[in-house]
Amino acid sequence: MIHKSNQQYDRPSRANIFRHMLLLFVLLFTLPAFSSDAKVKGMRFWQSPDRTRVVLDLSDAVNANVFSLQSPERIVIDLPNTEFGLDLDAVTVTSDLVDKVRQSATTENQGIRIVLDLKSPAIVKTFNLKPYLEYGHRLVIDLTNNTNQKIPPKKSLAQLHVDNVIIAVDAGHGGEDPGASGYTKKQEKYITLALAKKLVTRLNKIDGITAFLTRDGDYYVGLHKRTFIARQQRAHIFVSIHADAFPNKKVKGASIWTLSNKRSNSEVGRWLASKANEDLLGVDDDLDLKQFDPQVAQTLVSLSLEYAVGSSIDIAKDVLSNLKSVSVLHSPHPRQESFAVLTSPGIPSILVESGFISNPNDEKNLSSINYQNKFTQALTSGLLHYIKNHPPEGTKFASLNSQKINHLVKSGETLSAIALSYGVTVNDIKSSNQLSGNLVKIGQVLQIPQ
Ligand SMILES: [Zn+2]
Repeated sequence: MIHKSNQQYDRPSRANIFRHMLLLFVLLFTLPAFSSDAKVKGMRFWQSPDRTRVVLDLSDAVNANVFSLQSPERIVIDLPNTEFGLDLDAVTVTSDLVDKVRQSATTENQGIRIVLDLKSPAIVKTFNLKPYLEYGHRLVIDLTNNTNQKIPPKKSLAQLHVDNVIIAVDAGHGGEDPGASGYTKKQEKYITLALAKKLVTRLNKIDGITAFLTRDGDYYVGLHKRTFIARQQRAHIFVSIHADAFPNKKVKGASIWTLSNKRSNSEVGRWLASKANEDLLGVDDDLDLKQFDPQVAQTLVSLSLEYAVGSSIDIAKDVLSNLKSVSVLHSPHPRQESFAVLTSPGIPSILVESGFISNPNDEKNLSSINYQNKFTQALTSGLLHYIKNHPPEGTKFASLNSQKINHLVKSGETLSAIALSYGVTVNDIKSSNQLSGNLVKIGQVLQIPQ
């Protein structure tokens, strides 16, 4: 009895079915319409020498449709199920290609259309970025000049300054990629650019050296593009500048990294390496890591790197010995890691970690012009020391080296008399020949510095 009555009771009535259908309808159609509407929260323009990057901050992933239209030239960004969460008129347009940005009517239901009016035709490339650190969903639109004219290849710096040592100075991060965040939220990308600019100025004051920046403004350059630029200019040396942050604010000091195929053993080392490679996930669309079999690629790179690895360590040692008087060293020896930015076959490369901006003192120092001057002076001296001792073939420094005079010590000669006869000091001769005392022997060959 009880059973029967229960069965009867459980059987849905027509009214019940209707109520359930209605509820289902409400859930399926009403709720998503409210919850799935994404918002455009921000819009930024980054201009680099070869492209304009437009970034839209979105509250949710949006399946955008981006295309170009002619007469007049414009780019249309259709964002379905999206609404404005910003004032387009307040967006600053810094671009060689985009004249202005405006809203337009859209045929899409519950969507918006943003139009970029162009100064000249552009090639458009677009991709989505997933939330990363403090960033949310982003839509990236890259615009490059669509000129059909063939631009004659520019001469490289090495061709323009035949006798000079060419040094590529690479300011880490930039644009949409701020890098590490400091104790008082100072961003790494500004510190690296300030240091890089100062280093280039100092190096260019030295006769026989031409230095240049891989980026000279606040925009992002892909990791492989940086080393590509260095190769294009036929750089002899590649110096990448970074600053880092670590969860423990007590961790401090500068260190120099060189390339290696070995894995790092220290905890901080592993953490830094994983961070450096995270760069790739953040903003780099130039990289297609699946393009190569990693083992084949690594073998090829390591074969051509035999020379570069050894000389990179030599540079790192010279720079470190100059840096120790200016900065606390996080590590007194060159550290080795397989950073993507250092995989520049054939070019001796170092990565300067100028300090940990998560440490209050390091952050303060690296933001001060006085310290930046001292720091870049130490880098310059270290690089110069290396170049003088290992001058690249065909450069002024190499010919200076070949002009070195050798002096054969004869009976009755003293160090001070030899120094006097060549117009150099006793200390000059001592340091060139790594002599600790003032005694010289008959038959000894001394190098006389210029
Ligand atoms: Zn960095």
